[in-house]
Amino acid sequence: MSWALHPLTEEQIAIQQTAREFAAQEITPFSAQWDRDSFFEPSIVAKLGELGFLGMLIPEKYDGLGLDTISYLVALEEIAAADASVAVLMSVHNSLPTQMLLRFGSSAQREKYLKPMARGELLGAFALSEPEAGSDAASLSAQAVRDGDSWVINGTKAWVTSGNEAGVILAMARTDTPDKRRGARGISAFIVTPDLPGFGVGKKENKLGLRASPTVQLVFDNLRVPVANLLGEEGQGFVYAMQSLDNGRLGIAAQAIGIARSALEHATAYAAERRQFGKPIKEFEAIQFKLADMATKVAASRALLHAAAAAKDRGSPITQFGSMAKLMASETAMWVTTQAVQIFGGYGYVKEYPVERLFRDAKVTEIYEGTSEIQRIVIARELYASS
Ligand SMILES: Cc1cc2nc3c(=O)[nH]c(=O)nc-3n(C[C@H](O)[C@H](O)[C@H](O)COP(=O)(O)OP(=O)(O)OC[C@H]3O[C@@H](n4cnc5c(N)ncnc54)[C@H](O)[C@@H]3O)c2cc1C
Repeated sequence: MSWALHPLTEEQIAIQQTAREFAAQEITPFSAQWDRDSFFEPSIVAKLGELGFLGMLIPEKYDGLGLDTISYLVALEEIAAADASVAVLMSVHNSLPTQMLLRFGSSAQREKYLKPMARGELLGAFALSEPEAGSDAASLSAQAVRDGDSWVINGTKAWVTSGNEAGVILAMARTDTPDKRRGARGISAFIVTPDLPGFGVGKKENKLGLRASPTVQLVFDNLRVPVANLLGEEGQGFVYAMQSLDNGRLGIAAQAIGIARSALEHATAYAAERRQFGKPIKEFEAIQFKLADMATKVAASRALLHAAAAAKDRGSPITQFGSMAKLMASETAMWVTTQAVQIFGGYGYVKEYPVERLFRDAKVTEIYEGTSEIQRIVIARELYASS
């Protein structure tokens, strides 16, 4: 069964099927327990790597699958429908650190990091946010100072998805000087590895949802990074990060759609089984209308996402459509999971049934890689830019 409104290619359907079977065998049976225990299963990284799911957008010459964006998003939706925590790992890795290396890295950097990342031997992370710099990421304060053949970085990066598990972290830090601040142009991107002296993992967040995805602070205490690990040009790191987030938002939209679709499927099945007043609750118009609205919003979100992905693959700018897709999909996920809990009644409010977890997991899609407020700012800004 194809979930896309427009026909998927045979290859895309095969990838969807592979992802669905993998999720059914390797993720779904464990996801409730991983959530309860806040447990990150390290073997899942190697398994995703074996399938090629950690190199979906990386060209074959760097050991990736070199696929189109819809193929990647279709696979990601399947993984997210099984477990949003696994999906965020896959989304961040495929969309942010690997894409930054591919687009802006030197050939030596690509050779060294992209191949093991594509194979799933090195997990990637992205460290832009800081405790005091979230939506206003350009105000970040981690400071890099050149010292001979190294950059010495001090500061704390916050909310780093997979930060304690990653072998490669694309970290943004200031390379301007306190007496001559250059705003966003004073930020550079660095390839940080956990073996470097001065690297530390700080607080692990105790979260509402995505409990099986570790989110940590990274503490850079005189972190010594070789000059060879500067990505691209000095002062361009913020631009690289923002351009990568344009694509990253497509991944978060796919994650949100996977969560919403799963909630819709559970609610549809439950409404057929649960009887009240002598009949299945699906016979009540109030329930039917909820399910109809849920299905419509999921389909509309997916259609917008796949249109944005197709535009990206044609080489069109997708800042606005990527934000629209992320905004719509994340608000759909929150709304649909709320309706699913309602359809389950009291059973929706307890951990024996899966919609409680989906409801908690949905919320973060409205927050990370730009909150809904920030997506609306981006969309509105583009309206004026294009008029
Ligand atoms: C589970 C999780 C994983 C994450 N993973 C990563 C990661 O891997 N790497 C990384 O770098 N970051 C990551 N983040 C950080 C995430 O991107 C930020 O949380 C997000 O950008 C919001 O920043 P903030 O939390 O500081 O909120 P703030 O920026 O303080 O925002 C607080 C509120 O104010 C609103 N607001 C802020 N500015 C405006 C404005 N101009 N107009 C209107 N409203 C505004 C926001 O929308 C929000 O509602 C993660 C976060 C979470 C929760």
